[in-house]
Amino acid sequence: MLQASDPSPTDGNPAPRRFPCAQCGASLEYAPGTEVQRCAYCGHENRIAVAATPIEEQDFRQTLHDLANTTTVRESVSIHCDSCGASYSFDAAVHAGECPFCGAPVVAKTERHRELQIQALLPFKIGRDQARTAFRQWLRGLWFAPGKLKDYARNDARLTGMYVPYWTYDANTTTRYQGERGDNYQVQESYRAIEDGREVVRTRLVTKVRWSPAAGVVSRFFDDVLVLASRSLPRAVTERLEPWDLAQLLPYREEYLSGFRSEMYQVELDQGFERAREIMAPTIQRDIQRDIGGDHQRIHAADTRYGEIRFKHILLPVWMSAFRFRDRVYRFVVNGRSGEVQGERPYSPWKIAFAILLGLLLLGGGIAVWQHYEEGARSRPQFDYRPRFGASPRECGGGNVIDAVCGSPVALVGRPPVARPVG
Ligand SMILES: [Zn+2]
Ligand SMILES: [Zn+2]
Repeated sequence: MLQASDPSPTDGNPAPRRFPCAQCGASLEYAPGTEVQRCAYCGHENRIAVAATPIEEQDFRQTLHDLANTTTVRESVSIHCDSCGASYSFDAAVHAGECPFCGAPVVAKTERHRELQIQALLPFKIGRDQARTAFRQWLRGLWFAPGKLKDYARNDARLTGMYVPYWTYDANTTTRYQGERGDNYQVQESYRAIEDGREVVRTRLVTKVRWSPAAGVVSRFFDDVLVLASRSLPRAVTERLEPWDLAQLLPYREEYLSGFRSEMYQVELDQGFERAREIMAPTIQRDIQRDIGGDHQRIHAADTRYGEIRFKHILLPVWMSAFRFRDRVYRFVVNGRSGEVQGERPYSPWKIAFAILLGLLLLGGGIAVWQHYEEGARSRPQFDYRPRFGASPRECGGGNVIDAVCGSPVALVGRPPVARPVG
């Protein structure tokens, strides 16, 4: 086994801590939506002490400097998937199986990680049963999914509770810009037109834009810009899991990870900040446009300084299942806080082809019926007739058409019957 053969690391045991049950010795697991760890065998509970220290954001530049000198990192042992590149926490109880990110078989080939401390997390609120129900509901809604996928779901969906790594960044930004402000003004313009066969001169109002140079400085403080630090999950899927209730973040405690897995970050701290800048950019652009004012704005240059950058390394809870189908990976994820479901899905070409065929048949059938009706209609005179279904029997009678209510002939409403010429 891994720990036995590996030289023991200098800063403590890197494998996830085990929390033995005080009553029976089994492993306690965090119970979603609670503040306790629970024993699956005897039900014994252990309350998780809330850390008294507040969540501390770290200084970005200082940490980058420290990282270069390899300090303030924690070591951990993780399982690495060669197929998709994911690294996730080693679980003493699970040595082999499928990668929860891509469904490829993985053997317990572990590797050491040096990574920054986790400052905070959102514990799971949605339990496994709820996530499984959500997964099955999602699958049931997939009409075009291949039957094989539904079988996969039936034989107990392999759902993994995973803490996914994220960065959050704070920054005080100051942006100098240069551009142009456009103000609308109206001028009267005369033009020639033809009226009653004569050429006349008319005037109209035309809107024009007067451009003037603009320059200035805008500042904005950004708080908790969220950046995914995983490369194993597609950003398109994870972004749709937002928003997260980041106000509920708790100081990191390993107890919340018991019974779950956690992924190691693959997006480094400085790479994450590049993404954060992309997220901040549209807001800064709107600030500049507002600052320029007028009816139109042009921005020629903008130079942003990012001051007092602070960050947190956090973990957010996701239930996930990855399945391979025809050499492609499809993932299903549930927000472990809100229950929001997102997934990628295959389509069954057979089912789609069948549906198109069925649609064509129905359409063909419809055309045939319509043609039949049209032919029948052409063979007899048509009346512009509106039956008075609401009419009482007393109102009926005296007409040349049988009433649908009383069965007696009724007068026609509206135009008198006109026989349309045929053909
Ligand atoms: Zn127990
Ligand atoms: Zn994988």
